[in-house]
Amino acid sequence: MSSNDLRSPAAVLNPPVGAREATAASPLPAVRLPAFRLTDKFGRTISDLRVSITDRCNYKCVYCRTGSQGAQFAELAMEDYLRIIRVFVSLGIEKIRLTGGEPLLRKGLVPLLAQLAQLRTNRTRDPKPLDLAITTNGHLLAEMAAPLARAGLSRITVSMDAVDAAIFERITRVPGCFEKVLAGVRAAQRAGLGPVKVNCVLLRGFNDDQIVPFARFSRDEGVIVRFIEFMPLEEDRLWTPDVVVPLQEVVSKLNSFRPLVPLAANSPGETARRYTFDDGIGEIGIIAPVSQAFCGACSRIRLTSDGKIRTCLFSHFDHDLYGVLARGGSDDDLAGFIQKTVETKEARHHIGEPGFLKPSRSMVHIGG
Ligand code: SAM
Repeated sequence: MSSNDLRSPAAVLNPPVGAREATAASPLPAVRLPAFRLTDKFGRTISDLRVSITDRCNYKCVYCRTGSQGAQFAELAMEDYLRIIRVFVSLGIEKIRLTGGEPLLRKGLVPLLAQLAQLRTNRTRDPKPLDLAITTNGHLLAEMAAPLARAGLSRITVSMDAVDAAIFERITRVPGCFEKVLAGVRAAQRAGLGPVKVNCVLLRGFNDDQIVPFARFSRDEGVIVRFIEFMPLEEDRLWTPDVVVPLQEVVSKLNSFRPLVPLAANSPGETARRYTFDDGIGEIGIIAPVSQAFCGACSRIRLTSDGKIRTCLFSHFDHDLYGVLARGGSDDDLAGFIQKTVETKEARHHIGEPGFLKPSRSMVHIGG
């Protein structure tokens, strides 16, 4: 089926009963339709959906939030996220990441996950459970890791920007955060969600001395540490190229601790460059959207807490999918809107180029 096919994927994969009977009675071999894939105008397959379920957050990280602004956008009912996600899955989405704001603040998260765990990918030959992930600051994770794992979560990413408690508190502006997050990481490992990914956004002058301590942390705790280049997505106006700690600098600091050994990507669209050390202990990922942009392999689309599609973190537009639902639209209407919106996905971001304009929402209000 081409992306111009006006029938919905659901209608094609589940033809009307009469059509099925005609096929069954026919002497011709049954036609096997390929599973529908969402594709943008540059030929990129979109298989990865990030859903923000709230833009509230209990942390005020200095590189993300001003500290004085709160939630800015509405939250949908959990049934609405579920319905929208089902439609995305019928269009070929295979990986769902729940995020925010802070997703663990949202009541009804565990039942939502349990429902998502019942869904299957739209592959005609071998439908599989979805890959279900959460990105969290980990503050509430110690109590929630086991219920999330039981509900069907596949894996978890915890944001933690320092392994030094005082530095971490200076970044989050929340006392006692390091102990809470560390307990959350360990609880997730025990609950079977390991290896936990630990994301650290590096900021020159704040936590760039944490690179080698994080390497030790990965080796000691059995977690995958991922360093992320800081992007201009903050509520404030803090970003300059000088604050970004680029990939090459991280690689050379790690190499001076122990020789790094590159690892193969887990999938073609993987954003992190993966490494271990010469003794095979520990895993480090480096995500370098600024110095080594990976837009050509982007497979992502985002849904904000208030039900708007964002085709790129750096978009200047929201596409009001919830509006279609609120006006009584059918699943086919939602699917049509999603297909049309995906076609408008930007070729790439323009961070650091002359004339770069910050996106119309900051990270916490999009969903990271
Ligand atoms: N509250 C959750 C958390 O802390 O993981 C989920 C939302 S948070 C916005 C998602 C991720 O985006 C976090 O890992 C955070 O560090 C990262 N992030 C926020 N602002 C960023 C920026 N300007 N550049 C790069 N990463 C950023």
